[in-house]
Amino acid sequence: MADIRILDLRFQGASEAIASFLVETDAGPVLIETGPDSTFANLEKELAKFGYLPEDIKHVLLTHIHFDHAGAAWRLAKGGAKIFVHPAGAVHLVNPERLWNSASQNYGDDMEKLWGQSGSIPSDQVIEVEDEAVLDIGNCRFKAIHTPGHAVHHIAWKLGESIFTGDIAGVKIENGPVVPPCPPPDIHIEAWKSSLGKIKAEKPSFLFLTHFGIIENVDWHLDSLSYILDDWSEWMKSRFDQGVPQADAVTDFISYTRHFLAAQGCSEALIEVYEKANPSFMSVAGLYRYWKLKQEGRLR
Ligand SMILES: [Zn+2]
Repeated sequence: MADIRILDLRFQGASEAIASFLVETDAGPVLIETGPDSTFANLEKELAKFGYLPEDIKHVLLTHIHFDHAGAAWRLAKGGAKIFVHPAGAVHLVNPERLWNSASQNYGDDMEKLWGQSGSIPSDQVIEVEDEAVLDIGNCRFKAIHTPGHAVHHIAWKLGESIFTGDIAGVKIENGPVVPPCPPPDIHIEAWKSSLGKIKAEKPSFLFLTHFGIIENVDWHLDSLSYILDDWSEWMKSRFDQGVPQADAVTDFISYTRHFLAAQGCSEALIEVYEKANPSFMSVAGLYRYWKLKQEGRLR
């Protein structure tokens, strides 16, 4: 199996919040996920540990285009990298303004502090990847698995016995439990469940989570995620149905998840890392939107 290096990007000073993955092939190093632009200097430091400069990276595989996964892709493209992405995400790499502006509605004045800057990638460096497409890069074969549910533009990448799961296999930090990141606008519970089925059907021995690291008990992990996804979704539905204002639901949800994480043995410090990797207010916004669209009959 190719060696997979986990690069800790130390997002907002937290260790094990956001990862990027380095795979050394005989056609050069491949990067899976770039992390946000705000941690690009840390990415450079991590690459240097293995003797690489950013411009040595000629292949970048993105799981999806959210800033914590793909925000630095444009910088790697400046160094000559080709960026492999879901067809629905490609346009936002070439013309990032709309994505940036829509994220600004959620993050307000914190945009630059959290995510750094955005830049456009020339369209000839953005490669759209279809479901089940296979990329041979040197001695490594990567298979794309389209996995909607968290985002419509989501790909899980299979390499040998491992799958890089982006956000579709959830967030699990250190010894904490797995939880689903549910930001707007694409959350779709049924699609998410069927994506988990697709991942299971590949029978991987290992999952690599962007938030954060390697999972070896794959089936148990995926079953736990499916359970907690239902739990969060039903919790949110009951608030939504009662007409609880979204801001009030955020306050309640923060306390709900804190109790859950603490009961699972998470320290205060670890709960803070969970909140950085997967902010509660975003999951409330994403799941409220899901239930609203459901109610209006606008979700297939
Ligand atoms: Zn995401």
